[in-house]
Parts: sequence; C-alpha cells; structure tokens
Amino acid sequence: MTARSEGRGQVVTRFAPSPTGRLHLGHAASAIRAHDFARARGGRFVLRIEDIDGTRSRLEHVAAILEDLRWLGLEWDELVVQSDRLATYAAGLERLKAMALVYPCVCTRAEIAASASAPQGEMAPAYPGTCRLHPPVLDVPHCWRLDMAKALEVTGPLTWHDASAGTVVADPLPQGDVVLARKDAPSSYHLAVTLDDAAQGVTDVVRGVDLFEATHVHRVLQALLGLPVPAYRHHPLVVDADGRRLAKRDGAPTLEARRLAGEDGAGLAERLRSSLPSS
Ligand code: GLU
Repeated sequence: MTARSEGRGQVVTRFAPSPTGRLHLGHAASAIRAHDFARARGGRFVLRIEDIDGTRSRLEHVAAILEDLRWLGLEWDELVVQSDRLATYAAGLERLKAMALVYPCVCTRAEIAASASAPQGEMAPAYPGTCRLHPPVLDVPHCWRLDMAKALEVTGPLTWHDASAGTVVADPLPQGDVVLARKDAPSSYHLAVTLDDAAQGVTDVVRGVDLFEATHVHRVLQALLGLPVPAYRHHPLVVDADGRRLAKRDGAPTLEARRLAGEDGAGLAERLRSSLPSS
C-alpha cells in the first residue's frame, strides 16, 4: 500500500470513458491500471459512463465499452451514468451561483478564437472574460463560467498530489474562466467529474497525463464545494512505434474490432500489463 493510501480507508479507483466512440488500446491500458491499482490493495474499481455530451454520446458505444471491459477480464463494483445525475450537477452549479463565483456567457467558440491574441500551443485559448466584464442579456443560449481569479481569492493557495509529479501547486489561471455548465447541458466535464469522483468515493484518480492540467481546475472545485481530495496518478499515454499517441483518427483497431476478430481479451490484457511503462 502506498503511503498516501494508508489511513484513508478502502482504495477506490475508477475508469470514466466518454461513449463518443469505441475504446482503443490506450483506454484498455488506462482501465487496467485503475483496476489493478485498486485490486492489488483490496479496493474497489468503479465505472462511470461520461455521457453528458448528448450530441456525441451514443448508447451503442456504451454497450460496446461494457462488452470490451468484460472481454479484457475487468470487473467493476459499481456503474454510474452521468446523464442520470444531471440534478446533482445542477445543484453544484447553484451553490457556486450563490457564492457569486460563476457568470453566464453567450460568446461563441468563433468569437473566443477570434479574440485570442497569440497562438496558445496545444491548449485552447483561455476565455478573455468578455461576459464577465460586460454581463450579457440572457435571451440566447448561454453557458456558465467560473470566475477563476475570484474563486482563487476564496480558496487561497491549493496543492494536490500526483504519484509522478509529487506535490503540485494548483495553477488553474492559465485555463481562465472554464465552463462549468454548457449551453446544451447542465454540466461540463469539469463540474461533473469533480462531483462524481467525490460521490463515488474515489481515493485515487488513475488517468492519462493528457488530463493533468484539468486537475488544477478540479482541485479548485473541490475546495469550493467542500469535497475530499483524491490522490492522482496521471500515467503516460500509449503511443505507436513512432511515439505518436494512438487515437481514433489514426485508424488503430478498436478493442471491439479485436474482440470480434476472435482475439483473446485476457491475453491482450496480460500483454498490456507487462508492457505498461510505470506511471
Ligand atoms: N471521460 C474522459 C475521457 O474519456 C476521462 C475523464 C477522466 O478520467 O477524468 O477522456
């Protein structure tokens, strides 16, 4: 048992796929890491279907995901579906509204992109705060954004712990006033994931390093909403022989394709386990 897991009761990890497509090897590796971390400590492994994006989520993907995980030999102790929990996310947003830490925003993606002065590398440009500075008339669809600077005044300095990076000082300001409720859904990824990790009692968040930056935001939400702070284990992503990240667009075979072709899922899981770079 790791030092951080001691004294915190039973270890709980989760795998939280978005059913916007079929799973790939990278998903399998992440699910195996989370599953094995919990099981090696006598803990629980929970599954969460992150389907708040109603336009891109599909039931057929959910069915395939569950089948793929069973095929890999991974059993989960609990299944939560985000679309069943919209009232919880709405209540979380109301609490932040009551604290005057969120504001409505009517800006379109195109407007935000046009106002970005400099290229921002991989990260989307931070929202320039237009609707914070000039409150809009709310007769058109609007999202809700966290006033990040104000939120940090409330929380003060925050840290979180990552298995590889150690103690990390939360630095969410570069991401700006992130969206907490979308124009088309009563939550965003950030709000839902933070509330769900707490509700599911997750003690150790095992996920890809591509979500490392998101943790800065989640830490702020945990502090504002009085939620427990899990430990984080951001792991390297599965890459191809050229070091490129495996993604749907590269045409890598899905887990489903491998399963339907008759491949042995437990065998694949074992090979992945022995090839996983340590986190
Ligand atoms: N639903 C996210 C994804 O499929 C993962 C969220 C998380 O692990 O925090 O990329």
